[in-house]
Amino acid sequence: MRTSYSSLQTYKQCPQKYKFQEIDRVPAKKSIEAIFGTHIHGVLKRMFEKDPLFPTLDELLDYYRANWPAKEKIGWDETTENIYREEGVKMIKNFYAKNAPWNFNVVDLESRFEVLIPDEKHGTTHVLAGKIDRIDKIGENEFEVIDYKTAKRLSSQDSVNHDLQLSLYGLGLKKRWPHLKTENIKLSLYFLKHQEKLSTIKTEKEIEATTEDALGTIEEIEKKLAANERFEPIPSALCDWCSYKPICPAWKHLYRNRQQTTGNIEPILKEYFALKKEEQKNEQRLKELQKEIGTYMDAQGFDRLFNEEGVVSRKLQKRVSYDFEKIRHILEPIGKWQDILDADDKKLKNMMSGLPQDIQERIQFEGIIPKEFFVMTTTLKKQKMEGNL
Ligand code: SF4
Repeated sequence: MRTSYSSLQTYKQCPQKYKFQEIDRVPAKKSIEAIFGTHIHGVLKRMFEKDPLFPTLDELLDYYRANWPAKEKIGWDETTENIYREEGVKMIKNFYAKNAPWNFNVVDLESRFEVLIPDEKHGTTHVLAGKIDRIDKIGENEFEVIDYKTAKRLSSQDSVNHDLQLSLYGLGLKKRWPHLKTENIKLSLYFLKHQEKLSTIKTEKEIEATTEDALGTIEEIEKKLAANERFEPIPSALCDWCSYKPICPAWKHLYRNRQQTTGNIEPILKEYFALKKEEQKNEQRLKELQKEIGTYMDAQGFDRLFNEEGVVSRKLQKRVSYDFEKIRHILEPIGKWQDILDADDKKLKNMMSGLPQDIQERIQFEGIIPKEFFVMTTTLKKQKMEGNL
C-alpha cells in the first residue's frame, strides 16, 4: 500500500472519513483552516528562499497579500476573511521578528520523502510518503526538522515527545542521510499562533516504533478491505471540519430533503422519543420512591408493604467473591481446577496486555472471529424537569 502518515491518522480518527477520502476518492472541499494553513506554509517557504536575497518583512507581507486565496475558492464571508487575514499578518510579523532568515542554515524546504515499510508476514512492502516543512543544519552532522502548525491549540511537551509524525520525519531524514545518528536529529513543532517551538529527540527504538505503528494500521485497513467490513464513522468534534458530513451515515439524516426521503420514519421517531422520555422520567422517580419506601421500612420495622395494587418487599442480599489462589489449592489436588478455567473473551482480553508482543499479534491476526452488529443508543435533548420530581 502507498499511503501517508496523515491518511493513516485520518483512518485512526474516523475509518469512514478514510474510506471517503482514500478508497472512494470522493472529492472533499478543503476547510478554511486547511486553506489558510497551506497559504501560511507557502509564505514561510518563500521567506527562506534566497532570490538572490532573502525577502524583507514588507516584501513577504506583499507576497502574503498578493497570493491570498481567492474568495471563490473559500467562499467565506467578509468578517471571517478579515479575521483570518489579520491573524496571518500577525503570525508572519511575529515569526519574522523571532526568526530572521539569514540566521539559519536551511538545507531544504517542503522536502518530500518516502519510507519503505517491509511487511514480512505478507512478503510485501508498503510506502509511507511525507513532506517536511523545513530542514536546518544546526551543527556538524546535526540537523533540525521543523514542522509549522497554524492550529489554535498548543501541544504539551509530552505529546510532542510522543508525536509519531515527528518520528516519521526522523525516519525520512535517516533515509536521506543514512549516516546520521538519531540523537543528532532534532525534531520540532513550531506553533505559529503562540510563537512557541517545542522540540524533541527520539531514540532509535522510538523511531522504529513508527513503522510498527504504521504497519499495524495498514494491516487493519487491508484486513477490513479483504473481509469487506464496514469502515465505521466515529462522530466527534472534528466532524464540524469534515466536508463529508452531508453524505456521512452518522450525519446525513440531518441534511435530508424531507420531500425526497423515502419511508415515513417521523411518526415512529416521535413515538420512540416520547416513550424514552417517559422511561427516563419514570426511572428517576422510581429511584426516589424506592428511597422513601426504604426509609419508611427502616423507621417502622417493615420488610413488606401492602396496598390494593400489590406488595413491595425488600430482602437483604449478600454477594461474595472468591480468593482464587486459595480456591486453586483446594481444587487442584482433586483435579477440578481446570474445570473452572474455561476460556472466555473477557478473561482473554484481561490477559492480553501482559502477553509477549508476538503472542498478542498472533492472537490479533489468527484468533479473531469478526462479529459486527449495531448497538442502538438514544440521546435525548436536555429539557427542564417539571414539577417536584
Ligand atoms: S462527518 Fe465525522 S463521522 Fe462522518 S466521516 Fe467525517 S469525521 Fe467521520
